Amino acid sequence: MVRKEGQNCRNLRFKIHPTPEQERRLDDTPEYCRLIWNHLLSIQVDLYERFGLSVKRSSLEKHLKNLDYPIHSSVRLDVFQRLCFVFDKFFDDIKNGRLKNTKRKKVKFVKRKDVPCGNNSSGFIKYDGILPKGHPKFKSKEDLSSFRYKQHGNGWYLDGNWLYLSKITNKSNPIKINIDRLSDGELKTCTLKKEGIQWFAYLTVELPDNPTPSTPENAVGIDLGLKSFITTSDDDFVEPPKILRKAEKRLAKEQQKLSRMEFRSRNYNKQKQLVNRIHRKVAAARNHFSHCLSKVLVDKYNLIVFEDLKIKNLVKNNKLAKSISDVGWNKLVQHTVYKVAEKGKIVDKVNPNNTTQVCFHCGTKRKEKLKLEDRTFYCGNCGLEIGRDLNAAVNILTKSSYYNPSMMHTVGLAGINGCGDGTSTTGHGISSQVPSMNQQMLTPSKVEALMVQ
Ligand SMILES: [Zn+2]
Repeated sequence: MVRKEGQNCRNLRFKIHPTPEQERRLDDTPEYCRLIWNHLLSIQVDLYERFGLSVKRSSLEKHLKNLDYPIHSSVRLDVFQRLCFVFDKFFDDIKNGRLKNTKRKKVKFVKRKDVPCGNNSSGFIKYDGILPKGHPKFKSKEDLSSFRYKQHGNGWYLDGNWLYLSKITNKSNPIKINIDRLSDGELKTCTLKKEGIQWFAYLTVELPDNPTPSTPENAVGIDLGLKSFITTSDDDFVEPPKILRKAEKRLAKEQQKLSRMEFRSRNYNKQKQLVNRIHRKVAAARNHFSHCLSKVLVDKYNLIVFEDLKIKNLVKNNKLAKSISDVGWNKLVQHTVYKVAEKGKIVDKVNPNNTTQVCFHCGTKRKEKLKLEDRTFYCGNCGLEIGRDLNAAVNILTKSSYYNPSMMHTVGLAGINGCGDGTSTTGHGISSQVPSMNQQMLTPSKVEALMVQ
């Protein structure tokens, strides 16, 4: 979901209980969205294939109005805007040379019956089957399982435990929704999504203006690493629960199996369902863990400094282990950011360049680069010998513009196993806790003790 920065929104997920008739309409809607997507895309593809041009947005919007499907106009508009967004990104990528090395593959001419084309009387869209990399893709039935109402009061509204959706419910017959807790704030969008056989509503709430941040006293820098999930500048580290790691490994394995199967064969479909199920489990476990950990961090510190993940990803090479952690890190940063905003504390993101290579104590950069397998950092200048991740975490903290040396950063996370359930919106009962952490703290005397020579 794209959101302007500084906009403090929360996404809450609730189970809904539609009647069979409502469920049928819910099931139909993504299909209509898909037809609209494919229709608009086919018009664009046609032009792009022939002339390398993109359609004027206004003329495409006119097309949109002519598509008469029984769905609410704001849902239709959302499909249109999403397509425009992907197209903008595609052309932007071309302009900036990010798609330079993509070659168009020459393949057999493919006709697709399920893709209606605007003015083409044959009803077929002509394209060579494979669109260039980064180009918006035609969607198949499996690709779309959700749709969105863009504005509360326009097409959807919530009344206590009842959800009203235009074109799906009527005034006397809303959908039952289980709302246990709703943050104060203005309701924005409502996304309906089918997961497995169950429908869920994702409600976005824009929170009121944040309290002004207090002057940070307790500060922490956080290194996101592969060996341990996070290492803090207080020399604490946190591992994700074993149950999550195990599920992630299983997911990777089953996904690999899936990739070897014949596309859309019977076995493929079966395996796909299994993979989806594990996906949901992993996501729930990840969510839970990340909520717990971020709560501990936010309760404990006023200033939390992360590495900027966008830059970090450019710096480091791609590996499977990393891509798994990546998702977890993103979640953690996301959850921390919104929790911090509610409490008037500060999150900062800094450029991770050189954080592993510079000695935090004397600031000297190592001549030889520290390799990924080196676990300890040794400084040739001042003789400091220290855990690699810890050194990075302290560097990350001191890089922040909010940091000043008088801040305490010796508060340990030790002894906190607590895990508030108040913030979890998933409600899955996975009994994971933030693991108890190693209790050492980084005090000046400890730094001295670390010096050899
Ligand atoms: Zn040094």
